[in-house]
Amino acid sequence: MTRDIRCEDVIEKLLEFLDRELDPQTEAELAHHMEHCRACFTRAEFERQLRSKVADVGQSEAPDRLRLRMRALMERF
Ligand SMILES: [Zn+2]
Repeated sequence: MTRDIRCEDVIEKLLEFLDRELDPQTEAELAHHMEHCRACFTRAEFERQLRSKVADVGQSEAPDRLRLRMRALMERF
């Protein structure tokens, strides 16, 4: 049985989700939520693309200023 989780839970665990650090059940719950929640799906995609961009540039440290701006943007969703 899958518990219903809230958007807040998804946001809180999103980074671990993308890093595949969650246990399989939690991961499944997040994936399930995203199938039905456009906002969380978009957020996950956004974060994923942000990461691949950072990786492309070959920077080992995340650009903190950019990240903070992105966070501010995301909170307005
Ligand atoms: Zn959601």
